[in-house]
Amino acid sequence: MTALPTYDDVVAAARRIEGHAHRTPVLTSRTLDEMLGAQVFFKCENFQRMGAFKFRGAFNALSRFTPEQRARGVVAFSSGNHAQAIALSARILGMSAVIVMPKDAPAAKIAATRGYGGEVVLFDRYTEDREQIGRELAESRGLTLIPPYDHADVLCGQGTAAKELIEEVGALDAMFTPLGGGGLLSGTALATRALSPAAKIYGVEPEAGNDGQQSFRGGQLVRIDTPRTIADGVQTQQLGHITFALIRQLVDDVVTVSDAELVDCMSFFASRMKMLVEPTGCLGLAAVKRMKDQFRGQRIGVVISGGNVDLARFCELIGEAGTQRAA
Ligand SMILES: *Cc1c(COP(=O)(O)O)cnc(C)c1O
Repeated sequence: MTALPTYDDVVAAARRIEGHAHRTPVLTSRTLDEMLGAQVFFKCENFQRMGAFKFRGAFNALSRFTPEQRARGVVAFSSGNHAQAIALSARILGMSAVIVMPKDAPAAKIAATRGYGGEVVLFDRYTEDREQIGRELAESRGLTLIPPYDHADVLCGQGTAAKELIEEVGALDAMFTPLGGGGLLSGTALATRALSPAAKIYGVEPEAGNDGQQSFRGGQLVRIDTPRTIADGVQTQQLGHITFALIRQLVDDVVTVSDAELVDCMSFFASRMKMLVEPTGCLGLAAVKRMKDQFRGQRIGVVISGGNVDLARFCELIGEAGTQRAA
């Protein structure tokens, strides 16, 4: 096995994405801080290009392609933010991108990916294997496959958000990020261990999809069925091999929250902080609220991972919660 990436690789990634990725704002809420008796610093990747941190990893990975790889292009399989991140990064770097997406992916996501110049190849998620389709395309057309999280350049790019956060606000007592395949958490952990070594680092999953928690606590990779949760950015079945190795070394714990807690946080971000955050982007805050007794008086970093939720879906989720509360 090749050596795991280090913080130096995150620093190199930060240099590559500078001027291309937004340096997103760090926002705070007095109301929230009073409620929790702590100080929370939100790194707002919902304001990143294409609406999520995934641009960082995708751009870093593509900018390391050799001239030959660039000439042939990239292939990725994803129905979500990674697809758009790859398509946009490829366009900026002047290469072609093929994105393998399920036929029944939301029309808006397919359109957004095409809008960034990506060639979309559709497949049937019930009868076809997207990884196989991706690999065959890579082979037949000489494309380079970039996976969504289990790749050193991808996860080091994701770690640049935490690097910016800590450089801006100083050392933290705790850091929270969502956890799907682990690219964001492992990159965040590399940056946090280097810049704020005493901070506790937590990954947060939906209760229904706690494969990462089982893997972390049990010490070996656990695979689960695709979880049912509104947090569609983390419906992964298992962590990556590289990400799991880093998470085991660097992270303090993996915790879970319910979908109802995510909806509460979406509502809080919208009404109090005037921000549209996708359900997955709420995982960090939901965990901080659940664990608040442990963090009184402390300084806490939270990565808001993305803001891509269509308005009708947002209203549906917030509306249901409102009705339930009234009942
Ligand atoms: C991809 C994604 C995640 C999870 O990131 P991993 O690197 O797979 O753990 C979390 N939030 C959003 C918005 C995402 O797009």
